[in-house]
Parts: sequence; C-alpha cells; structure tokens
Amino acid sequence: MAFEGLADRLQSTIQKLKGKGKVNEADVKEMMREVRLALLEADVNFKVVKTFVNRVSERAVGQEVLKSLTPGQQVVKVVKEELTELMGGEQSKIATASKPPTVVMMVGLQGAGKTTTTGKLANFLRKKHNRKPLLVAADVYRPAAIKQLETLGKQLDMPVFSLGDQVSPVEIAKQAIEHAKQEHHDYVLIDTAGRLHIDENLMDELTQIKELSNPQEIFLVVDAMTGQDAVNVADSFNKQLGLTGVVLTKLDGDTRGGAALSIRSVTDTPIKFIGMGEKLDALEAFHPERMASRILGMGDVLTLIEKAQASVDEEKAKELEQKMKTMSFTFDDFLDQLGQVRKMGPIDELLGMLPGANKIKGLKNVQVDEKQIGHVEAIIQSMTKKEKTNPEIINAGRRKRIAKGSGTSVQEVNRLLKQFEDMKKMMKQMSGMAKSGKKKGMKF
Ligand code: GDP
Repeated sequence: MAFEGLADRLQSTIQKLKGKGKVNEADVKEMMREVRLALLEADVNFKVVKTFVNRVSERAVGQEVLKSLTPGQQVVKVVKEELTELMGGEQSKIATASKPPTVVMMVGLQGAGKTTTTGKLANFLRKKHNRKPLLVAADVYRPAAIKQLETLGKQLDMPVFSLGDQVSPVEIAKQAIEHAKQEHHDYVLIDTAGRLHIDENLMDELTQIKELSNPQEIFLVVDAMTGQDAVNVADSFNKQLGLTGVVLTKLDGDTRGGAALSIRSVTDTPIKFIGMGEKLDALEAFHPERMASRILGMGDVLTLIEKAQASVDEEKAKELEQKMKTMSFTFDDFLDQLGQVRKMGPIDELLGMLPGANKIKGLKNVQVDEKQIGHVEAIIQSMTKKEKTNPEIINAGRRKRIAKGSGTSVQEVNRLLKQFEDMKKMMKQMSGMAKSGKKKGMKF
C-alpha cells in the first residue's frame, strides 16, 4: 500500500510522544530527527523536508504545545496540520467556465496514465457532477492512443472526438471545441500527446493548443511511483506551460509517497485528483487533510463513507436493517452485502481507511485474497434456496455436495457456516444492546 513505510515510521515516532505527560524540547528534537529520516526515506524532496521539520519544530516547542495539558497529542495535531498544509491545505476543485464548455488539457509523459485518466475524469464528471463531457483524441503520435481513448469512450458510453492521426493536434482541439458547443457538451477533455521525455517540440505544440483553446485547466498526469522524477517533470511542465493542477496516478501501488508530499511545495501547483487503480472509477478528488490523516493512521472515514454512499443502495440498506432486527438475515443477504462491499473497491484499500487499522495485529499484513471471497460466493451459490434461508439443515452430506458444487473443500464450507453463525450471534447481541440502550436512554 502507498505510504506504508512513512506511515509506520511516523506513527511509531509520534506514539512514543503521545503518551508522555510532559514534553520538553529534547523530546521534540528527538522526534523531529526521526520524522526527518522518515520523510527522506519516503523520497520527499530534501528542501521540502527541511522546511517542514523547521515549521513543526518551531510550533512544537512553542507555548501552544508545551504548556498544554496533553502535549503529546498537541504535537500530533501540529504534525497533521503541517502535513495537510504541505499537500496544499484546502481541497482544490476542478474549475468550471462561466460560459461552457470548460476546456481541460491533459498533459504528461508517456506511460504516466494520461489517456486512462482522461477517461476516468470524464466518468467522474458525469457521475459526481452530472456533466456531459466530450473526450478529444489529440495524441496523434503514440500508436494506439486514439484507439485506446475510443475504447474507453465505448466502455463509458461517451462520445470521443477524433480526426485520425493525420491532422495536427491544434486543429483537432479547435474543431473539438466547436463540436462541443454545437452538441452542448459542458466539458472538453483533450488528451494531448505524450513523449518519453520532455522536449521542445512537445512543449511548442502544447503551448499552441493552450493559446488556441484557452483552457480553464491544464492538468499534468504524473506517475506517483516515479517519486522525485515526478516532481521534476511537474516542475518543468509548470515552468513552460503554467499548470493549474496535477493528477497523481498509481497511488494504489506501493509508492513511498515522496511525490505526493513534495509536488505542491516545489511546483506550487495543487494536486487535484489521485488515481487509485486501473479501473475507470478509480479516480478520487484529492483531499490534503484526509491524506494526512491516512498517513498518520487516523483513518479516512469520510472517504469511506462517501464510497459507501456511492455504492450502497439505500432501499437495500433499510431492508437489511430490518432483517437484522428481526433476525431473518439469510445467506442471500450475506451475498448481497458482499457484492455491495466489493463495489466500494479493493478490500485492503478500504481497511487502510479505518482509524488505527495498521495497529491492529493480524490486520496489518492481511493480504485480502480476492480469490477467497470468490470461494465464499461460490459456496453460497451452490446452496439450495432452502439451505440459504435455513443453514441449520446443512448436514454432513449437504456440506460435501456444496463443496463439490463450488469447487472448494468441506473445511471451507464449514468455516463459512461457522462464520455466518457467529455473525448472527453478534447481530443478536447488538440488537439486544440497542434495545436495552434505548430503554436507558443511551445513544448509539
Ligand atoms: P499514457 O501513455 O500516459 O496515456 O498512459 P496510459 O493511460 O496508457 O496508462 C499507462 C498504464 O498505467 C496503463 O496500463 C494503465 O492501466 C495504468 N494506470 C493508469 N492509471 C493508473 C492508476 O491510478 N493505478 C494503476 N495501478 N495503474 C494505472
């Protein structure tokens, strides 16, 4: 998972300080030495590290902390605030032109994820903001880039404007904007050409597109896995083109996080989105505070709730609540639940958003095996209707049949039945607690 090393080190460092009743300057110094190392190891730009450490140290030995009743926790608060600040402070949203269409130029080096991100962004704008984007294939140099965008367009059921690879990108951009006006598209996303390296020709061409299309946004797509290289690329693009935002891709991989922490400070350009996977819905708006919270192990419950809201069907949730109350929860409901949770994203990523998840033993190295979940689904699907509703009838013979039918083993079937039984017991306890709580006027 991204930021793992940094998160571990920062958390164990602040943990040491958190419990202390009194904190003196020497404690803070010691902690800052460790923070400094942790950041450098995470490949954060050294100048950024220096400024960061100075800022935190200054505040941490100030009155605000040392005189407080909980100095350890105050230091954590300072670290979190400064980390948030480092990544840009407030969330920076995508612009909207006062007169549509809003033109967004997508730029970046080859392989960074530019074309994929263009598709993801279109999906994001439609799903979250109810927009009608037009995708524009202006990467005429990379073989197959146009085809790739067209395929993405098909998957999304969205139009792609293309004039083939024999027309200049400047001309394509010009005609695309005209077309968008006629067809009432409110966003135009131009997938420009990438190169393996930054070169003058590329910059000239991008500058021409910029001058002609007057974009509200110029987004640089960079690969978080490339660390400081990503920061250097962002710096060059920014100097030559004037970026309005960065999209950091591949944050689902095990990047050390240096790019995410350095880009804003080095280039003074906000990170607006992050790519969290190859799928078309794996793009998230970037929230500096939530990211700081994730890094410090305080979880990111807000993102988790948003994901749940986006994927959980409200009617079904109510129905489920009722079933839990009346204890009529069946294996079919269980399967349904599993499906809903899986829609939210990879399970290990979800676990990472829980506060303190990395401290729970056994959870830390949990490799959620998606195959295992597939087995659970297969087992349930191999049950008869009656068995799903009344699992107590599943005797040895039936267990054997289910194992065979699902291509699993009797042990796996046994395990699932036991888990289901335990879960029902837990629900019973919880609903009992809620009932007696209500009587006593307790709040849940
Ligand atoms: P382009 O040359 O910059 O247009 O790059 P592409 O859009 O073709 O992407 C290059 C590769 O990176 C593809 O295999 C994408 O699926 C992959 N990719 C893009 N964004 C992400 C991301 O956020 N996470 C992961 N894991 N892969 C990504």
